[in-house]
Amino acid sequence: MIVKREKLSFWERLYVPALLGGFKVTLSHFLKKNITMQYPEQKWAVPPGYRGAPYLVKNPEGRTKCVSCQLCEFVCPPKAIRITPPGPGGAPEVGNVEKSPKAFEIDMLRCIFCGFCQEVCPEEAIFLMKDYSLTGLSRKEMVYDKEKLLSLGGVHQDKIRKWEHKAEEALEQGMKP
Ligand code: SF4
Ligand code: SF4
Repeated sequence: MIVKREKLSFWERLYVPALLGGFKVTLSHFLKKNITMQYPEQKWAVPPGYRGAPYLVKNPEGRTKCVSCQLCEFVCPPKAIRITPPGPGGAPEVGNVEKSPKAFEIDMLRCIFCGFCQEVCPEEAIFLMKDYSLTGLSRKEMVYDKEKLLSLGGVHQDKIRKWEHKAEEALEQGMKP
């Protein structure tokens, strides 16, 4: 099949109007405000509820909120969480009720940022933060340990202060630290 080409007009054969049209587009972009983001110095402001990297948090008293129940480890779809319970016992002032994990690791290369760990945690101990930029030079570096997760998570204000009555009980019973 032979495709019949349209004959070019005189102006089209000159190519000058097409060139000028191209220059016009270039010039309009040249005069526009620069919108290039200077990453990593500048970062996106993520919307509320954004699901970034999961980190562990401490309570306002500075204690690890995680009690090694391992629900998050069980529910995590790609098996990115590994917990070794139990670590140090709970603080005496709250009746030793907490059992912090001995080791807590999240493989950030496996994590799919689904948020199931945050959903399932009965202690509000793990939160998906706004951090979307995770880098490392090796696979090992991308496995975050407990100390790193806690330092990145920081302190979280408790919504549910379920151990408070335990602290009161402990004080009433004259429990010594
Ligand atoms: S966000 Fe999802 S994939 Fe990542 S650690 Fe939590 S449960 Fe696992
Ligand atoms: S982070 Fe929450 S769900 Fe996971 S082990 Fe700790 S207390 Fe349990």
